[in-house]
Amino acid sequence: MRLKIGIIHNNEAKSLKVHEDLLKLVAKNDNFTVVEHDPELVITIGGDGTLLSAFHRYSHKLDTVRFLGVHTGHLGFYTDWRDYELEEMVDSLCSDRDKSVSYPLLDVVVNFEDGRHKHFLAMNESTVRKGNRTMVADVYIKDELFERFRGDGLSISTPTGSTAYNKSVGGAVVHPSISAMQLAEIASLNNRVFRTLGSPSIIGPDEWIEIFLNTDGKHMVTIDQLDVSGGGIRSIQYKIAEERIHFASYKHMHFWHRVKDAFIRED
Ligand code: NAP
Ligand code: MN
Repeated sequence: MRLKIGIIHNNEAKSLKVHEDLLKLVAKNDNFTVVEHDPELVITIGGDGTLLSAFHRYSHKLDTVRFLGVHTGHLGFYTDWRDYELEEMVDSLCSDRDKSVSYPLLDVVVNFEDGRHKHFLAMNESTVRKGNRTMVADVYIKDELFERFRGDGLSISTPTGSTAYNKSVGGAVVHPSISAMQLAEIASLNNRVFRTLGSPSIIGPDEWIEIFLNTDGKHMVTIDQLDVSGGGIRSIQYKIAEERIHFASYKHMHFWHRVKDAFIRED
């Protein structure tokens, strides 16, 4: 059986060239067929942003789809393969067809005042912010009031998302073998009157967070690159998702090596 491959790329010149080269390589190979619908393997060409959009396109099929990223851009935290390694990549796909490694995701439910709710999965993080005014929100962990937050907002991230926005707001980097979500503050107000924990918290499986918004009007809510901002949001619930994202592990990098490569190494 031929492996059904979907290819998603951004529109930078380098990615278009890699796309062309990859199509040629795959056309010569009996092991693969390139499809528009129902791929078993999704190859992204670009950066982490490209992989994030591919994830959202196939987030309803995570149990049958594996992902693999080819790096042509700036950082490429999730994208293991380099543009000059295409042949090696295709060879390794032939020899190791079913291998994969999986990472935890974040389950997000946005509840509206009128009783409606919307459900999402995040691969990096979800943030909630007020923007123009101080956001006031009651943070519940496992149905118990934990703190009343005042400040710019809150970020809830996955372990693999811990190196993205979470890291910029002072969160810890978390190894993706740990089933966890991280709650990090964005510019909290802390003084004699208003008090929050003031440090990031790591929350485990079988626990959940609910953030009740106490300010009127519009709030900015993001799920990775998706913007679900609007009025009438009552609360947002977060837990570690039952679904996981599977990566083809053909060139699976040691996580701390990947962190060093992205943030410390200078060559
Ligand atoms: P973007 O503004 O183009 O990307 C922001 C940067 O974050 C890019 O360099 C991107 O890498 C990198 N990145 C994405 N996921 C990462 C991860 N898990 N670990 C380490 N770095 C990561 O936006 P985008 O490419 O559409 O990605 C959306 C994500 O960007 C959001 O989920 C959020 O985490 C992050 N972001 C961060 C900040 C901040 O730190 N202040 C602000 C806005 C957005 P590539 O260059 O390979 O795409
Ligand atoms: Mn990007």
